[in-house]
Amino acid sequence: MIFDPRPKERLRDLFNREVEINKFVNALNDPAVVVLGLRRTGKSSLINAVLNDYGYRYIYVDTRVLEQKPYAAYPDLVRLLERAFNDAVGRFNELIEVFRRIRGVSVAGFSISLSWSRRNGVDIAEVFDKLNDWASDRGLRFVVVLDEAQELVKVRGVNLLPVLAYVYDNLRNITIVVSGSEVRVLSRFLRLNDPESPLFGRYVARLELLPFTREQAVEFLRRGFEEVGVSFSDYDKVYDAIGGIPGWLTYFGFTYIREGPEGAIDRVREYAMSILRREFCNFLMEGRYVSKDRYIRVIEMCRFGCTWSDVKRTLEALEGRSINDATVKSIIDSLIDHSILIKRGDTYYLGDPLITDALKDNVSCT
Ligand code: ADP
Ligand code: MG
Repeated sequence: MIFDPRPKERLRDLFNREVEINKFVNALNDPAVVVLGLRRTGKSSLINAVLNDYGYRYIYVDTRVLEQKPYAAYPDLVRLLERAFNDAVGRFNELIEVFRRIRGVSVAGFSISLSWSRRNGVDIAEVFDKLNDWASDRGLRFVVVLDEAQELVKVRGVNLLPVLAYVYDNLRNITIVVSGSEVRVLSRFLRLNDPESPLFGRYVARLELLPFTREQAVEFLRRGFEEVGVSFSDYDKVYDAIGGIPGWLTYFGFTYIREGPEGAIDRVREYAMSILRREFCNFLMEGRYVSKDRYIRVIEMCRFGCTWSDVKRTLEALEGRSINDATVKSIIDSLIDHSILIKRGDTYYLGDPLITDALKDNVSCT
């Protein structure tokens, strides 16, 4: 169902992503592919739907539990993997055999637990080795998904990149899929252009999901309402109020059908704004940015696009003194790194325009 608010699991439920689906399917023959796109543009849906409908065996590491944390440690990473391996075994029971003979892994029935002890703990590279052997014996390709991988930069004291580089270089039956909602998945996590990065210089296929255009958003809603036999015609009003992010459009359809047309636009806006506020607070918390007002003011300023000097002027007006270029740069860079701002030419735009309304009332992060 188009208005199902969960990530889609089947291609038939995906609207208007044919080009991206084809690109992704082709890229699955490469060692690695990155799927980029703002939050709620449908990355998880696309990845799930293709892997399920094409019958891939895969593990899916969902890093979003780290979103609310300022940093994470090795045991957190092991727990993420443990959950991912258990999910995979639940889906593909035959994989349990792979885990039986790995150091640091205990198997009971169809349940796996991993040890993170430094001496006898699990060796992640070894798990991938065994998965690769398993796939290779069967002539299969195995896919490892790191969803929302920008969260992995928070994991201290252990670096996953050498393992990824090992998989990339040696394990021919494994494809790594990295998804990210923020450009820092490239600039801070994979760092393909950084000579210091274990993945430096590797070719990684890249795919980007954009929000729907007005026309696509209208068609999306039309299909969704048609599917459930509800008549609807205020398409443009919805687009004007919430924009083209598929997740907000889906939620609109869902709440309209569930709770009725009365106030449906307001409900989805409230819902979206509360989520955006929480994400903004996570951004402040992770970066330890104390000067919340600076960021809010810059975001406000950039509502319809802004330049470097607009930002500088805004900050100076806020603080009543001159602000040096390095400070302006660090503020803009952190907003861009987190894809709150998007740069096109010399102009910065908001990733999700709803964020200005979300930050209008006094934002208190607790
Ligand atoms: P992301 O992983 O990029 O944050 P999701 O895949 O979770 O995005 O999608 C967010 C919401 O939007 C989900 O409810 C999903 O069902 C819906 N959605 C996203 N893209 C599409 C699409 N192309 N067709 C139908 N629904 C979509
Ligand atoms: Mg997702």
